[in-house]
Amino acid sequence: MDHVDGLVVGAGVIGLAIARQMALAGQEVVVLESADRHGTGTSSRNSGVIHAGLYYPSGSLKAQWCVEGRQLLYEYAHSHQVVHANLGKLIVGQSQDEEALRAIEQKARANGVEDLRWLNRQQVAELEPALAVTQALHSPSTGIVDVHSLMNALEGDLTDAGGMVAVLSRLVAAEQGPSGLWTVRAEVGEPRQASEMSLSANWLVNAAGLDADAVAWRIQGPAQRLIPQTYFAKGNYASLSGRAPFSRLIYPVPVPGGLGTHLTLDTGGGAQFGPDVEWLGAVDPRRDPGSSHASIDYRVDESRLDRFAQDVQRWWPGLDRSRLQPGYSGVRPKIAPLEAPAADFLVLGPRDHGQEGLVELFGIESPGLTACLAIARAVEHHLRG
Ligand SMILES: Cc1cc2nc3c(=O)[nH]c(=O)nc-3n(C[C@H](O)[C@H](O)[C@H](O)COP(=O)(O)OP(=O)(O)OC[C@H]3O[C@@H](n4cnc5c(N)ncnc54)[C@H](O)[C@@H]3O)c2cc1C
Repeated sequence: MDHVDGLVVGAGVIGLAIARQMALAGQEVVVLESADRHGTGTSSRNSGVIHAGLYYPSGSLKAQWCVEGRQLLYEYAHSHQVVHANLGKLIVGQSQDEEALRAIEQKARANGVEDLRWLNRQQVAELEPALAVTQALHSPSTGIVDVHSLMNALEGDLTDAGGMVAVLSRLVAAEQGPSGLWTVRAEVGEPRQASEMSLSANWLVNAAGLDADAVAWRIQGPAQRLIPQTYFAKGNYASLSGRAPFSRLIYPVPVPGGLGTHLTLDTGGGAQFGPDVEWLGAVDPRRDPGSSHASIDYRVDESRLDRFAQDVQRWWPGLDRSRLQPGYSGVRPKIAPLEAPAADFLVLGPRDHGQEGLVELFGIESPGLTACLAIARAVEHHLRG
């Protein structure tokens, strides 16, 4: 049986960032990825926004890692030629939204984000003439990143440091021997022709995204006591044909479960609205680990477009509904039910569950992309004890 220092399950942006971090620290790392290439899961189905860290409860991991991760990500993107742009964003409102905007400003300040600026109607019109709002908060540190460019750079660093991503390699079981060594069984190869392989490792990180709970149930030991129930919440996008008359990201005040129907621009010059929140409900924790993406219907229903148009026309009355088309969608792994307040990221290490050399990540929804480099540092910290 082959032995490596560490195994990471999942080659999304989170698993790649963790594997890179550990490889740069001198560890021999292999990433197991069930798909045929890296980053085909949630990491390629998001808005690509580098969030400033405005909305999350102060003291939460989301707030802390978003702010730290944003700074790390800008530096990394700059030094590694990752395609990105620091466009800034406006959170827009009418007069009745003033209280909600003030609450965002306060939360942002508590999170250490000090660069927000109030704009009145005229100042908004100078920046973005197509908007019809009475006020806005300007966040200059919000930006966008090309996630594929980022993941290629992370994988490049990993392989340069001697690590690798093993594609078509699906974790099906793991157990820890008395010496603390992990034995991991993986199915390798195309689904119907896969063969089984075993590997041993000193440490194991579960960064399987939507499947993190199902993977966790295949890792024997007391950590299973702490696996949260997972719920899926789909986020649908509507794409805008033609050029958008905006040069910044435009967000309304947030709605329960999401950030409201906002406009994001991508690094290729496209514009989309969304994501909305379509609650898909609780998932079966005993499902096949690695099966979630194949079982999700990612199509965007045309009937959602009217709602997008209504929401957007509140702040961009000039939107012509016929310019909207069904876009793509992504799914958030939620670890709190719909009626409960949004949960924080859940990263469990040996101090939490008592199993040496095991770190598991649950509920890594937004701002996971922004936070990936900060999350990677935190995981290294967990592994070093
Ligand atoms: C609609 C939407 C919009 C978002 N927008 C933003 C945004 O603008 N900014 C931001 O900061 N964040 C955003 N996020 C959050 C961000 O996209 C995620 O936090 C991040 O991509 C999660 O990455 P991941 O690596 O955990 O998951 P994934 O990318 O899903 O990677 C997990 C990987 O694990 C693999 N896997 C699963 N099971 C197994 C197994 N048994 N064996 C081997 N491999 C396995 C999967 O194939 C997959 O490749 C958004 C999320 C959504 C859903």
